[in-house]
Amino acid sequence: MIELNRHYAELEESYLFAGIAQKVAAYEAAHPGARILRLGIGDVSLPLPEAVIAALHEGVDAQARAETFQGYLPECGAPFLREAIARQYAERGVSLDAGEVFVSSGASDELGDILDLFDASSAALVVEPAYPAYVDANVIAGRRIVRLESGKDDGFAPWPDPAADADLIYLCSPGNPTGAHFTRDKLKAWVEFANARGAIILFDAAYEAFISDADVPHSIFEVEGARTCAIEICSLSKTAGFTGTRLGYTVIPSALERGGMRLADMWVRNRTTKTNGVSFVIQRGAAAVFTPEGRRQAERNIEVYKGNARVIREALDAVGVWYCGGVNAPYVWMECPRGLGSWEFFDYLLENAQVVGTPGVGFGPCGEGFFRLSSFGSPEDTAEAMRRLRRLLA
Ligand code: PLP
Repeated sequence: MIELNRHYAELEESYLFAGIAQKVAAYEAAHPGARILRLGIGDVSLPLPEAVIAALHEGVDAQARAETFQGYLPECGAPFLREAIARQYAERGVSLDAGEVFVSSGASDELGDILDLFDASSAALVVEPAYPAYVDANVIAGRRIVRLESGKDDGFAPWPDPAADADLIYLCSPGNPTGAHFTRDKLKAWVEFANARGAIILFDAAYEAFISDADVPHSIFEVEGARTCAIEICSLSKTAGFTGTRLGYTVIPSALERGGMRLADMWVRNRTTKTNGVSFVIQRGAAAVFTPEGRRQAERNIEVYKGNARVIREALDAVGVWYCGGVNAPYVWMECPRGLGSWEFFDYLLENAQVVGTPGVGFGPCGEGFFRLSSFGSPEDTAEAMRRLRRLLA
């Protein structure tokens, strides 16, 4: 009989989103007509920028004519898109060859697929609270997980622990769920740590477009030494509303080598074996995000979410609750008031204000006692939710 991958049995049951859905459904059944406001969502709510929609239509029309029809494209991405992404990096002072940029179907796909490059014996260091896929993808691959806890003391963005055993290091900045970011100094310390021990940083930059402070790095490649120790995984999901349209990109520097093997070459080999790339139409739409018009429109949407984050921060300031995030990030990470646990506060908020958020303990044990509020809802719902929260916690 065939042997299955037994590591699936080692995955912890994810109670987080199923638990939330169950509790909200039970509340709705018991209180028909209650207006429940959802600040738990990690998905965007505004439609794609107009420039993207126009480019998607042009892509479809191109497929209708023999002269412009596109069959298979290069597996690692269409040159027009790889070049547009490399130009954006150049504007931020990061010089990349377009061949170092790999187009993907999104950060989630890539965070799982990229593990093909590493031996199962390597240890994965995850800074917690963390996006759950980091741990699960490594458990499935049979890799050892090293958890590095973060907290209020380090602003949920820790310095490297010199004693930590790590081959693969996950850093997410700005972070989900905490909204915290790594300063340039902290990133430099992580880069030095990784280079010194031959480790590789997987830098998740899915929320870089929310950065507005000039001194916060958008990319790990803004830090000296990162080209020899880092891979950056990014996405248009939160940058431009591509959560349902699907497009991401990954940067693997040509200088990144271990044991005489170049990771960018290995990734080309992986992609040409395992995928025929992302749809031409979607890549056409994505390229519009990197035009001046598309960028302006995407930024306009981000400003709406950042306005929501401001409303959330103001409410928490008014009731004297500690939080981080919500400035260069769409998430606000608050301490549960009155010493409540994450799920206790979830129940309290649902029952007394009909507001839904995400219990912090769902992102790792050190998230206990914290709670994530998302700014991806509508301004109207966010404002009403915060009116109710102020009243409840006043
Ligand atoms: N990384 C982080 C930290 C995320 O929060 C998410 C989605 O919420 C992703 C990656 C996945 O993004 P994508 O939609 O590109 O798969």
